[in-house]
Amino acid sequence: MTEPINPTAVMDYLKPRMGARFKTWVEICTHCGMCADTCHYYLANDKDPKMIPAYKVRFLKEILKRKGRVDKDFLQQVYNTVYYECNVCRRCSLYCPFGIDIAFLISTTRGLLTSLGIAPEGLRKAVENYKEFGNQMAVTDEDWIETLQWCEEETAEELVGLKIPIDKKGAKIMYTVNAREPKFYPQDIMEVAKIFHVAGEDWTFPSQKGWDDTNLAMFINDVPSARMVVENTFKRAEELGVQQVAITE
Ligand code: SF4
Ligand code: SF4
Repeated sequence: MTEPINPTAVMDYLKPRMGARFKTWVEICTHCGMCADTCHYYLANDKDPKMIPAYKVRFLKEILKRKGRVDKDFLQQVYNTVYYECNVCRRCSLYCPFGIDIAFLISTTRGLLTSLGIAPEGLRKAVENYKEFGNQMAVTDEDWIETLQWCEEETAEELVGLKIPIDKKGAKIMYTVNAREPKFYPQDIMEVAKIFHVAGEDWTFPSQKGWDDTNLAMFINDVPSARMVVENTFKRAEELGVQQVAITE
């Protein structure tokens, strides 16, 4: 027998999110099909009717109809649709004549699954890493600083006088990266340092969390974690007193 899910937990997640717009969007779809051609999954799958954006919301409607009384097998089908048949690009939402925000409904369904402990392993791990290390790739503070230092040394051999400023107070630009750069692609850091140097820009990297601008929590609709990522970057920018934050993602 498939594992049951606590219906109270399901409805506790959904109820606070079911404002007037949410309820309207769930109820007013006329199945006109105008959103179909806007979806790249639909087009890339020989116009498979199962890929029509409005159809992908059927699970959320079913969950509401059953008042959260669903099981793990059912949620696995939901998972397959909201992660592998939609990337929440929001194109369909812009084309629906009634303004039904399908992407919002799909994203809310992702958030529901996350709240029940169901999310893609890679994304979940990245969020855990962020919480523990301040970046999604689990780069330690020491490794981050060391990487910037040797990137500076190597690049300065090519461009004499080049600096990679760290925690420069009052710099014009605070530059942030995808944590994959120090981990796997430090050459990207070196290339950007060259551009800033040649352009004569006043820039800096933060040494503390806030330098990884990837927000993978957003993809699983883990709002508190997604907020934390943005707040960390904002906090660093305020501390350093910069005028701008450059985000590469
Ligand atoms: S979501 Fe909008 S465009 Fe798509 S079928 Fe429903 S009413 Fe039509
Ligand atoms: S939000 Fe999802 S369903 Fe809508 S067009 Fe994008 S991929 Fe397709």
